[in-house]
Amino acid sequence: MGRNPFTELDIIERIRSLQMITDPQVKLGIGDDCAVLRRPGGMVELLTMDTMIEGVHFNQDWHPPELLGRKAASVNVSDIAAMGGMPRQALLSLGLTNETPTQWIDAFMAGFLAVLAAHDIMLIGGDTVKNPAGVVVSVTLIGAAEEKKVLYRSGARLGDLVWISDVPGIAAAGLELCRAGLAEDEQWRRLVDAHRDPVPEVALGRLLAESGLVNAMMDTSDGIATDLAHICRASGCGADVDRDALPGSELMIAAGNLLQQDPLVWALKGGEDFLLLFTSPASARTKLTELIREKIDRKIYCIGSVTEKDRVILRQGQELKDIAFQGYDHFR
Ligand code: ADP
Ligand code: MG
Repeated sequence: MGRNPFTELDIIERIRSLQMITDPQVKLGIGDDCAVLRRPGGMVELLTMDTMIEGVHFNQDWHPPELLGRKAASVNVSDIAAMGGMPRQALLSLGLTNETPTQWIDAFMAGFLAVLAAHDIMLIGGDTVKNPAGVVVSVTLIGAAEEKKVLYRSGARLGDLVWISDVPGIAAAGLELCRAGLAEDEQWRRLVDAHRDPVPEVALGRLLAESGLVNAMMDTSDGIATDLAHICRASGCGADVDRDALPGSELMIAAGNLLQQDPLVWALKGGEDFLLLFTSPASARTKLTELIREKIDRKIYCIGSVTEKDRVILRQGQELKDIAFQGYDHFR
């Protein structure tokens, strides 16, 4: 058998095309951060699942079990936040090797349950199996939202502004620092933490959904080149990103210099930031930034606009580059 010639997106599209949704309770199946199920009283249930595999998503040399437990919970919470929902219940599937010590499991569970407790989420089930090849963690998370408030990838409109909730690329910078043996170096803590212990944007996601000022939203997990292309594809539009409007950080620039890597590449192609990427009508610009400053004392960054063309462009002075789907892909 040869190597899988498809991208992650191709495979998901292939799976999606195998079935027609006939259940009226399913408002949305495959294609967004969560599936959306209709529930009584104008509510919906949100469902998401994410898997982390040793050697692919984490390396035990620099990922302590407690932080891994936290991350397994947080990345799923992020998908609920990305639709403006409240996380509620979790299921946990653990694949462990014969050599996985009980102390490892205890530390992992302490981290996992701490994030659940912080968001008032109950662990209600799961599965435990042996996997000689390494540790595999898979989490299913159930959330709730008002049907009318849910934000989808598909809501972007021509002329919308594109926003990001924080500096993209920090997790990729953190991962490279870990690979370089600098995970425990205090100087890089903020970047290393972004990779090892990301913080899901639940409060911001809820505020944006409640505000009525946002048209489309998702969380970033594959770099904004790919993540923004998801919004564009789902919404039938394009986007222009202004290179000079991308927020950066001095620490990221310093890490780029040290590692001889380009922070712009981290921002565009680096995975696992778990920030919120969203669009709003241009007329909502001031209202939105003021609301967020007032209610949660946060800054958001306008990085571009939604265009008609079916493309994602990085604009740097006169130079235009098509960056659609150039981010992280498991099969490329
Ligand atoms: P995210 O990064 O937000 O978790 P993914 O890129 O993993 O989203 O998945 C995109 C969409 O495809 C989601 O709706 C997800 O539920 C769906 N999906 C991914 N893999 C499969 C699969 N093997 N079978 C069915 N649906 C899938
Ligand atoms: Mg997501």
